[in-house]
Amino acid sequence: MVYNLPQPLQRLFLPPSCLLCNDPGEGELDLCTTCLDDLPSNHHACSRCALPLPEEAPAGSLCGHCIRTEPPFHRIVAPWRYEGPLAELIRLLKFRQKLAVGRSLGILLARQLKRRRERPQLILPVPLHPRQLRERGFNHAAELAYAISRELGLPWSTRLLRKQRPTPAQHNLDRGERLENLRGAFHFIPSSGYRHVAVVDDVVTTGATVTEVARTLKRAGVEKVEIWAVARTPDR
Ligand SMILES: [Zn+2]
Ligand SMILES: [Zn+2]
Repeated sequence: MVYNLPQPLQRLFLPPSCLLCNDPGEGELDLCTTCLDDLPSNHHACSRCALPLPEEAPAGSLCGHCIRTEPPFHRIVAPWRYEGPLAELIRLLKFRQKLAVGRSLGILLARQLKRRRERPQLILPVPLHPRQLRERGFNHAAELAYAISRELGLPWSTRLLRKQRPTPAQHNLDRGERLENLRGAFHFIPSSGYRHVAVVDDVVTTGATVTEVARTLKRAGVEKVEIWAVARTPDR
């Protein structure tokens, strides 16, 4: 039974097809070249937190949030906007358990990061609380982090950063309420020697989660925290 084989072997028998339209995938991706070209690019964005900026803002600008308050992270990398086909892919990953989405989006994100000279020492996916993890069966951020780690040849860990307190759903809360909701929710196991770390998540919405994670890491002695996300939600 092909489905019981390890993923690399499965791929020998079942060449990837596009998760969005079923056409043959591009190389090892489960996305075709047409659908890849249709992903909404986030190239005109805040240079610190990747928030999509209005067209009239000059390239390299900061958004209002980053001007008012210095974020605890060095920067957010988020190459796509959370809308259209990208939002559909995240929905397939999170709610239809299509783990191939995590692999393909992880590879795509890693391609964007390959050219950078300075690399983090460790990749950490944003953790779920153990109860959430049991309910869902997998952590979508860990699926992305695993693919990125393989592509870039960097170590990753799901043990060092933990969510120690479950938090209620956030979608009806504003940014301030989300930050309050998340305060003290994460714990980083003190590990000496990690000065530069990348935190991986699927989508950055208000930035509250990655802000709290970055604060937690910095309190534990990490000097530089980057955030690597697939997509950023435009301000509403
Ligand atoms: Zn396609
Ligand atoms: Zn910003």
